[in-house]
Amino acid sequence: VYFLYVLYILFTYYIKNRLFLVEYISILKKGIYMPYLEEVFNYLNRTSPAQTEFYQAAEEVLYSLQPLLDKYPKYRKHKIIERIVEPERQIMFRVNWLDDNGEIQVNKGFRIEFNSALGPYKGGLRFHPSVNAGVIKFLGFEQIFKNALTGLQIGGGKGGSDFDPKGKSDNEIMRFCQAFMSELFRHIGANTDVPAGDIGVGAREIGYMFGMYKKLANKYEGVLTGKSLKWGGSLVRTEATGYGCVYFAKNMLAARGETLEGKRCVVSGSGNVAIYTIEKLYHMGALPITCSDSKGMILDEEGIDLLLLKDLKENQRARLSEYIKYRPKAQYTPIEKYPEGRNAVWSVPCYAAFPSATQNELNLEDAKALLANGCKCVSEGANMPSTAKAVDLFVETKIAYGPGKAANAGGVATSQLEMAQNASMLSWTFEEVDAKLEQIMKNIFQSASSTAAEFGQPTNLVLGANIAGFRKVADAMIEQGLV
Ligand code: NDP
Repeated sequence: VYFLYVLYILFTYYIKNRLFLVEYISILKKGIYMPYLEEVFNYLNRTSPAQTEFYQAAEEVLYSLQPLLDKYPKYRKHKIIERIVEPERQIMFRVNWLDDNGEIQVNKGFRIEFNSALGPYKGGLRFHPSVNAGVIKFLGFEQIFKNALTGLQIGGGKGGSDFDPKGKSDNEIMRFCQAFMSELFRHIGANTDVPAGDIGVGAREIGYMFGMYKKLANKYEGVLTGKSLKWGGSLVRTEATGYGCVYFAKNMLAARGETLEGKRCVVSGSGNVAIYTIEKLYHMGALPITCSDSKGMILDEEGIDLLLLKDLKENQRARLSEYIKYRPKAQYTPIEKYPEGRNAVWSVPCYAAFPSATQNELNLEDAKALLANGCKCVSEGANMPSTAKAVDLFVETKIAYGPGKAANAGGVATSQLEMAQNASMLSWTFEEVDAKLEQIMKNIFQSASSTAAEFGQPTNLVLGANIAGFRKVADAMIEQGLV
């Protein structure tokens, strides 16, 4: 009777709070898992103190590699783990520039050239006040495996600055971009390292940086992607990350006999990735009802007005609160009114969720709210938007969960298509590039899902994506020798 009583208590506790099992499993995982990986984490803690986002990304990848390391001792023999967590090169530099008042401003610049086993370093530049060495390192680390998953010849890199573009005049943006490139230009090149955009870096910033690179290097080459269509950019690059993320969701759902058609979807963010996620959701017949920025969120039950959103964010560069001036039936919630420690976007009942703003924007409580409201699919447009515990819950409940490094790889894949067009001096049509993007997203899904099945966890795309990406890079590193 006592035994049954204890079982009953545990069962009701689990139903009320799935975290119990998730935490239990993750403690077990870490307990059983080898001192080998613990040694690597100790090394990272000692040599790169306080880089919390980087540890989070490294833990997620390395723990899921365990079955691969058990099966193939060659990776341990060649010390691939120890080598892959250490960037090939990290560049940190000072960026001086003059603001409109003639005052000197100083920012930090970063470029991390993490791994070139599969091709030239490739990854975006982020301009945001939260940027620091740990953030750039986590983004660069994720980029290695993401780029490998695309099946294209690109290595992993990332960069940026703690410069805040908000509220700056166009001239200030230009002067900052020129100052940033006046150091970066000596480290990059069309066959060496090819940066792109990320948070705070769009076509305008890429234009100013390209202009400065061309002047300093005296070369007109495809050294940056995300360029304007008028001078070397690729059609679909602007749309690629958002479109790709929805294609990924479509593939995950198709494998379960489901579709997005007619379904309520929630999206966070209102930048490049969010806008084109919303656009592709409409193409698929879905109903995207939310978007957000760092100050608040919009809930528009009739569906987000995409033309209005594009005008506010791409032309006016306005705050999202302006949206309700034009759509009075929509609801705006400022972040001060969010439930404590939560992101209100994830409390809106939906079938599918598309986190498209920034890292750690969806925590365990948010994940529980999504599941309690019937959410069946999470496809990550942003990099590492879900916290480790939220990810564990998605994996454990076996919903269709697409981790960022797989689901948002469409952006970098289309950047590589831009590089291919630049190198061959050709331009492909929108339809050609879009068809290639859709096929690449399908291949990424198939590669992650067949790898997950190979290791006995068919729905676990975290494990599948990490192992599939890692294996490509690791095998190339072994074949290229100790360099
Ligand atoms: P944008 O700068 O175009 O938009 C970012 C959006 O996220 C804005 O709405 C911004 O709000 C919001 N945001 C940024 N930081 C925060 C924060 N700390 N809290 C709340 N909201 C925030 O960037 P992208 O759309 O290009 O990038 C979004 C995500 O997608 C990032 O994680 C990026 O790394 C990832 N990604 C982007 C790719 C691309 O091709 N652009 C490729 C792959 C991944 P606000 O304007 O108020 O700051």
